[in-house]
Amino acid sequence: DDPLLSIRNLQTYFHTDDGVVKAVDGVSFDVDRGETVCIVGESGSGKSVTSESITQLIPIPPGEIVGGEVYFDGEDVTELSTGELQELRGGRIGHVFQNPQGALNPVYTVGYQIREAIDAHHDLSKAEARQRAIRLLEDVGIPEAATRIDDYPHEFSGGMKQRVVIAIALACEPDLLIADEPTTALDVTIEAQILDLLRDLQDEYDMSIVFITHDLGVVAEIADRVVVMYAGKVMETGSVEDIFENSAHPYTEALLECLPGQSNLEPIPGTLPSATDPPDGCRFHDRCEYATEECRVGDQPALSEIEDGHGVSCVHWQRGSDGLPEPTDVRG
Ligand code: SF4
Ligand code: MG
Repeated sequence: DDPLLSIRNLQTYFHTDDGVVKAVDGVSFDVDRGETVCIVGESGSGKSVTSESITQLIPIPPGEIVGGEVYFDGEDVTELSTGELQELRGGRIGHVFQNPQGALNPVYTVGYQIREAIDAHHDLSKAEARQRAIRLLEDVGIPEAATRIDDYPHEFSGGMKQRVVIAIALACEPDLLIADEPTTALDVTIEAQILDLLRDLQDEYDMSIVFITHDLGVVAEIADRVVVMYAGKVMETGSVEDIFENSAHPYTEALLECLPGQSNLEPIPGTLPSATDPPDGCRFHDRCEYATEECRVGDQPALSEIEDGHGVSCVHWQRGSDGLPEPTDVRG
């Protein structure tokens, strides 16, 4: 089967007073039907802009998709008209963001807001739409959905609000759900519940999920495959096993070392390179303990497939073997 979503060499830039910010600079990956792909990276890595470029949720201008293709079910959606994009958003592609508060309108009941999402793409009677809204609230695990439907957002807890937002995103039974840090604002117990819910819903609704997070712990919970981004580029991509048990990129390793229970709880030293004037060579070279002269010239190393489905953008991915660089301590 062809992938549901295929992003090819996507470049999304922002024109700012300080220059052109190359937020996403040549990103490629696929999302198969029914699978969850996590995009992980620090803030500023371009992971949100990548996901927002899919249905052009980025502000245009100052944003611009300057290159590449986004194939959704075989069609290049970068070519769609504004009307066609609106049909896609909330239709075949649903979105959930970090802050449920901001996604809900405080002056309308949750039932009204779910019905609005249904009505945008379907022609149901008021009674039918209400029934469907109740069913959606049940699906996302809201108890006593038939009465809760007439409540206002402020009558729900943060976790319950996020469940309502997910119900809205599911209103049109999307083929793809894009979730950008949907649990980051929630406490860890609620986070675990929402991740469980998304896994259940994925089966029930037979959808693919693109899940954006800075947290590899969350990735371990929910991902089938992983795209590790840094400074607008894909550093490594592979199955969740490739990334957690067999990672080959120094940036991925550094992220893994920051996980609770690992040796190094400190964040990775150093900061993201300038977005308007990125360095030559590998964008991670200033923070990489394996960097050599080769890493500081030319372009970002190509994302080469080192085993089936496991791609790495690093000239020294085989480091440690004979004749290859040993780590030097750049961590001070
Ligand atoms: Fe480090 Fe060089 Fe690999 Fe970049 S290419 S991650 S600088 S070893
Ligand atoms: Mg973000």
